[in-house]
Amino acid sequence: MVRVNPREPDGAPVNGPVTSKSAVPPTPEAARSAGAASGMPKVTMIGGGQLARMTHQAAIALGQCLRVLAASESDPAAQVSADIVLGSHDDLDDLRRAAEGSAALTFDHEGVPLHHLRALEAEGVAVLPPSKALHFAQDKLAMRVRLAALGLPVPEFADLAGDREAARARLVEFGESHGWEIVIKAVRGGYDGRGVWLVDGADEALAVFDQYPSDAPALLAEQKVPMRRELSAMIARSPFGQGAAWPVVETIQRHGQCAVVLAPAPDLDDDVAEQAQQMALRLADELGVVGVMAMELFETVDGALVVNELAMRPHNSGHWSMDGAVTSQFEQHLRAVLDYPLGNTAPISPLTVMANILGAPEAPEMSMDERLHHLMARMPEAKVHLYGKGERRDRKIGHVNIVGREGESMESVRERAERAAQWMSHATWTDGWDVHS
Ligand code: ADP
Repeated sequence: MVRVNPREPDGAPVNGPVTSKSAVPPTPEAARSAGAASGMPKVTMIGGGQLARMTHQAAIALGQCLRVLAASESDPAAQVSADIVLGSHDDLDDLRRAAEGSAALTFDHEGVPLHHLRALEAEGVAVLPPSKALHFAQDKLAMRVRLAALGLPVPEFADLAGDREAARARLVEFGESHGWEIVIKAVRGGYDGRGVWLVDGADEALAVFDQYPSDAPALLAEQKVPMRRELSAMIARSPFGQGAAWPVVETIQRHGQCAVVLAPAPDLDDDVAEQAQQMALRLADELGVVGVMAMELFETVDGALVVNELAMRPHNSGHWSMDGAVTSQFEQHLRAVLDYPLGNTAPISPLTVMANILGAPEAPEMSMDERLHHLMARMPEAKVHLYGKGERRDRKIGHVNIVGREGESMESVRERAERAAQWMSHATWTDGWDVHS
């Protein structure tokens, strides 16, 4: 059994060295002793994606080396961390190897089976956020039920789990009572719009239901919210109980995934912004969340707030904070899981825009290196973050932050951020600019 002191100060493995399937130099063992020599705590992140990569960036500044449980050496975070454990987030033994000697075990995605996390907790691993909280970020139905019980605004919903005939009848009843203005969602496993069907009418809704594989995660139906826009309230909470909130941002989706973030959300009523922050802080407290949490919200056409979903990890809607806030979400996540005092979340400029670099239908002929070169020449103020990922249509391969200047309009900053991101993915300038003419 692995027993880990959650505050083992030197980050040294409690139960001897962790073995790794990786053979790339430096070996994880060598990296681990280097990490231990720093005397700083060891945080392990499950998942080797861009969120872990950027958390590692923040870990470096804090004198740490993030350990990453990655599926492959080519994962975005595995490329840059010296402390990689290769394995699967579905495998309890791999999770144990990754957890050994760690002050905290945390996540870059929601995919780790809850029963594995409970097993690790029983063995003394500091799983943060804890499984009892993470459950509500993994399961959209459980989240809706819990939020509704806490009196938080959620869309009306119907559970479509269980016996198929009975579930189909519930779908018809729910659809008819909402004029078929409904959305069907997989309860678990969806991300970036996968597992969400914005159906148009009864026939489409029933077709989605009838064609859905019976062995896949259960479905739910919910009311299609008549919305003005989408918002995100990003907060952090530490085990000590300290909470901190960044300004509420507006998120703009394309093809079901986040494309642009405006920080702060333009023209958002102060009271509504505060209400969103308070809801997120209160919920994090009620659920015992540790780390950062994004509460995705809809602002309805009437100006009310409805909670869409929760992410208990760094989130795309918080990337702007890397360049636009005193403390980034990645540093804050580490501070929270290590129970350090939280950092100042104040923005450093009246407005910042983040634009995702989303892969073009076909990767441009011009290399990424050359595109970056041109972008730097044209827009020296653009802060580029690349994830080391291959280019594929609509894949998140990086993002650009533009921190607005005093007196500049949101439209102007947004235009520049989107221009920079489009250049990085497509090698075309949205204003037709040509470096050679
Ligand atoms: P994911 O887990 O893939 O991010 P979401 O539940 O956030 O899925 O849904 C993806 C997008 O679908 C949302 O950002 C929003 O644009 C739209 N959407 C989801 N639920 C609703 C709803 N109830 N009403 C209207 N639009 C919705």
